[in-house]
Amino acid sequence: MTALDDLPIRDDLRGQRPYGAPQALVPVALNVNENTHPIPEVVAHDIVASLASAVLTVNRYPDREFTELREALAVYLGHGVTPEQMWAGNGSNEVLQHILQAFGGPGRSLLGFTPTYSMYPLLAAGVGTRWIPATRDAEFELSPETAARQVAEADPDLVFLCSPNNPTGTPLSLETITAVYEASRGMVIVDEAYAEFAPDDEASALTLLEGRPRLIVSRTMSKAFAFAGVRLGYLAADPAVVDALRLVRLPYHLSALTQAAATAALRHADEMLAMVDDIRTQRDRLVVELGRLGYDPKRSGSNFVLFGGVADPHAAFEALFARGILIRDVGIPNHLRVTAGTEAETTSFLEALAAISPA
Ligand SMILES: *Cc1c(COP(=O)(O)O)cnc(C)c1O
Repeated sequence: MTALDDLPIRDDLRGQRPYGAPQALVPVALNVNENTHPIPEVVAHDIVASLASAVLTVNRYPDREFTELREALAVYLGHGVTPEQMWAGNGSNEVLQHILQAFGGPGRSLLGFTPTYSMYPLLAAGVGTRWIPATRDAEFELSPETAARQVAEADPDLVFLCSPNNPTGTPLSLETITAVYEASRGMVIVDEAYAEFAPDDEASALTLLEGRPRLIVSRTMSKAFAFAGVRLGYLAADPAVVDALRLVRLPYHLSALTQAAATAALRHADEMLAMVDDIRTQRDRLVVELGRLGYDPKRSGSNFVLFGGVADPHAAFEALFARGILIRDVGIPNHLRVTAGTEAETTSFLEALAAISPA
């Protein structure tokens, strides 16, 4: 049998491990921060109608510029963002990859504040970009001073700021974002994958785009928007940034069916986001109840909660899994992460955790 190491694979990929969140079929899957509510049936019907019409023309390549979708995304984002400022890909992971292809590469570096999204170092490695793991303050917070100091010292070509941060849930202030922008000469990307779960009065980094051509704000339809299976991520930035990304994307990278499904779903944005309030309620309930069970939940602006005080995360993960509940061991000692599900799923998780917890 041929092993990976027998192949003439790139030296810098040897020994690396692929992204691998378990995909087990369990009654309660709270491990990858999806919106666990199915999409409304009326929306599903409208999406199917759009797909039915789009499929009649798939003998031709799709609109390379996904014009209609970019218009719909700009309207959805608001904040005066124009279609010329929009870009999209098959998930925001592809969008982040486009950014690294255009602005990273051999001899260049990407800085992120760990623990953070596990895909950042993998995406960097894929295009031969050096990953610089910077550190956070106590409780996984990130002050403007801590962030700007490390950016100034390392002088990276790109900085990825995850706001709120995955896997810790930590919200990020606009002050920290502007401090990082001012301390750097490279591209600053704010990954707002969970932005819709923030408090209603919290400002998005979209409000900082004007006059900052090195700033990029990325979003996804995978989380609050309940559309993970379709694979649609996007960003807003200066139109010149979008021109840079055109240089690296594959021709016609967004299929006609993806464009049709996403455009149809955006026509129903309110209905698609109808469960966000419920999810925030379950997230807040998780924080309260985890504290009552003697754990140490971190503050969260997202749809998941990281909690400390777990004596043996691996054993707890396995004990929950045996009860049909899948959560995430993110590799932080004594911590586990759980997604806020429906009220029933959240109850199942809390009851199972209470059952396996030391009294
Ligand atoms: C889930 C997630 C994404 C979204 O990935 P998609 O490719 O859009 O599904 C991006 N960034 C972070 C931090 C995430 O947690």
